[in-house]
Amino acid sequence: MRTPVVAGNWKMNGSKASAAALLNDLKAGLTSSTAEVLICAPYPFLDQVANVLNGSGIKWGAQNASQHGSGAFTGEVSVSMLADFGCTHVILGHSERRALFSETDELVAEKFVATLEGGLTPILCLGESLQERDAGKTIEVVERQLMAVVEKAGIHSFSNAMLAYEPVWAIGTGLTATPDQAQEVHSVLRTKLAQLDVEVAGKLPILYGGSVKAANAAALFSCDDIDGGLIGGASLDANDFIAICQAAG
Ligand code: PEP
Repeated sequence: MRTPVVAGNWKMNGSKASAAALLNDLKAGLTSSTAEVLICAPYPFLDQVANVLNGSGIKWGAQNASQHGSGAFTGEVSVSMLADFGCTHVILGHSERRALFSETDELVAEKFVATLEGGLTPILCLGESLQERDAGKTIEVVERQLMAVVEKAGIHSFSNAMLAYEPVWAIGTGLTATPDQAQEVHSVLRTKLAQLDVEVAGKLPILYGGSVKAANAAALFSCDDIDGGLIGGASLDANDFIAICQAAG
């Protein structure tokens, strides 16, 4: 049995005041979910997140990290800095970073290795564009993104990682993959990894992301290979996010 996971991705949203209100509402309201819940906040809020969530059972993480340990990399944030602020997880290879910041499969793989070496859990995002789906390339694309990391980091590194299947056409668009569409891809990803190590593949949390809401979460999370969600827009509303966590377990 895999523990369900729900991760909120706040993206580049919020203020000190709105973050405080949201975090306190989550802390007060998230008492009955058995899911592993985490909040991936913008870097400037991490100290505040740590102060509010410390001891609450809710974990926190970041949305990106440098592949470098330290040095002359202006504007970058290292994994050890994130660990210092109590982060346990880092989202890597989000489609917005791949598309808007030119992150390649190889760079994402380097960040994955750096994250593990720094003792944090990478949440590796994979997903196809609408054009790729329409061209019948969904599986080819997600397998390529996955295998670039497996080849660099090794299959055993996935015993300390998570995957998030996030079809690009479903992110922030209000379009959601149907449970069958998502389950099909999740199953392919798990099967691909099982060819290398059955135990690692069997234990790996594979989250779904893309316009998950309170109304569609339960149907998605009931699929065999969908172990929870990576939640963007709906993680900014405490009631919606709590309802999604409760749908997970
Ligand atoms: C995301 O940014 O990871 C995401 C899934 O966004 P949304 O839930 O808003 O589609």
